[in-house]
Amino acid sequence: MDFTITLSHFCDIHGPRSILCTSKIPLNNDFKTDFIQEEIISKEDYCKSCLLIISTNNNNDNDTVKPSTIKTIDQNYIYFTNQYSISKYQILNSLIKKTLSEEITNYNSNDPVYLGDEIRGYSMVYYFKIKDLEARGSNRRYSIIINSSNEFKILQNYKLIDQYIKTLISNLKESNIKYELNKSKNYSNNDLFLRGKKIQNSNSLIELLNDKDIFIRIHLWFVKILQKI
Ligand SMILES: [Zn+2]
Repeated sequence: MDFTITLSHFCDIHGPRSILCTSKIPLNNDFKTDFIQEEIISKEDYCKSCLLIISTNNNNDNDTVKPSTIKTIDQNYIYFTNQYSISKYQILNSLIKKTLSEEITNYNSNDPVYLGDEIRGYSMVYYFKIKDLEARGSNRRYSIIINSSNEFKILQNYKLIDQYIKTLISNLKESNIKYELNKSKNYSNNDLFLRGKKIQNSNSLIELLNDKDIFIRIHLWFVKILQKI
């Protein structure tokens, strides 16, 4: 019940930030409305690359953005995806900071890092990079954290989670490579010169993969995993 799956990244402006977090709540839970994010997000704290953006976002106001919630309901559960976990904000925030701040992280390994303690629960953490010529180091760093207080459940489903998350990461990387290749064919010399000067734009996965529905797709993939565990 307390399983969450979080996609986070290292923002050049804001540091480690949650982009989206999917939770699984029983339909008979009386506190379902607690999982709908009402708090207005300040654009000072989140830039375009940090934000969970779905096409219906209200972006009219200049300084704030209305948070998005994506929902899926099945027979017994409701699955919420928000910018960050409301119920486990502190736990996950501290995990995101820990996992994305450490420079020692090996992004070349596809295998998860397993972390666990009684306070922050048990987590499988996956790291990956997405090419972005406008980011520092020409890459953006991401992590996916599967977290639960129930260690037995995590270990019992380890293989299944591993298979699903690896497939997702490999699909994201593949779309990004295809899109970047296509784009590079269209670069003029002037573009390359400007890029050499490092104009820092905050690109979201929507731009990096050229897919406006990417966050909905990720939500559905996380729901698929949560339905099986
Ligand atoms: Zn940011």
